[in-house]
Amino acid sequence: MRQAADPRGYDIDALRRRLVPERDGERSTSIPELADADPDLCAIALALPDGSVRSSVDGDVPFSIQSAVKPFLFALALADTDGAALDRVGIEPTGEAFDAIKLESGTGRPPNPMVNAGAILTCALVDGDDPDQRTARIIGGLSAFAGRPLEVDDGVAHSEHLLGDRNHALAHLMRDEGTLTITADEAVAVYARACAVLVDAESLAVMGATLALGGVNPATGQRVVSSRIARDVVAVMATCGVYDGSGRWMRGVGVPAKSSVSGAIVLSAPGTLGAAIVSPPLDERGTSVRGRIGAEALSADLGLHVFG
Ligand code: GLN
Repeated sequence: MRQAADPRGYDIDALRRRLVPERDGERSTSIPELADADPDLCAIALALPDGSVRSSVDGDVPFSIQSAVKPFLFALALADTDGAALDRVGIEPTGEAFDAIKLESGTGRPPNPMVNAGAILTCALVDGDDPDQRTARIIGGLSAFAGRPLEVDDGVAHSEHLLGDRNHALAHLMRDEGTLTITADEAVAVYARACAVLVDAESLAVMGATLALGGVNPATGQRVVSSRIARDVVAVMATCGVYDGSGRWMRGVGVPAKSSVSGAIVLSAPGTLGAAIVSPPLDERGTSVRGRIGAEALSADLGLHVFG
């Protein structure tokens, strides 16, 4: 077996140079801001248990977090409900696209927190009496995961809210089932803002590391969520984080992760490190093409596959 490289000396820019020539994939067209994203953006970052963060060129370029926010929304919902969020959202993979109009049969719950229905619901479970309070709680929580203050891109949030017809449909469906207890519009408004939070690869890697390392942010030393919550979230990332590509992802990359339509992927290698890769062109499942290739290479080079 090949000797794993030490992440502290790993040549991240060399990995980036391997990814840049990859030209496959298309940017999301769901909102104008994503359709206009720079297709050449390509960044990789690693966040290590000693608190250090190492990144490639572009590691500090901002982008909207999109669905890479979902593990963290789930974590905050678990924290704010003392774990009762697990009664309100399923944890089984769907084998379907991220925005499939599908709820659990019998219960009317969203199938899992990594698809849109589930994340709209977890937005409604965090503390707060109205959308502004819930948004503030989410931004505060995400900032603790990242170890720096994060902000919403208001233009992206506006587009998400205006153009997110399937998300409105999912929220109305859950409202009808009785599983969503705030109004559909309020829930989508919070979710749209959560997806529009600006991060960079470095911050996203720290967020992934905080989950990978038992809920303690390695850069700030702050406990953000309990180790039990961190474990639960990483387990669901492993089974559901790449939607209908989750099985292929776990075989090939073997690191719990969450993909997103901005081309960002957050990875949580249990007990080892957090990583982020961003590159906007996506494959047919909404996963960054360079992100998937880069994650496979990173996993192989650093020996991160959870099944050895
Ligand atoms: N904001 C996007 C949406 O709701 C997030 C989807 C994604 O990143 N897969 O459609």
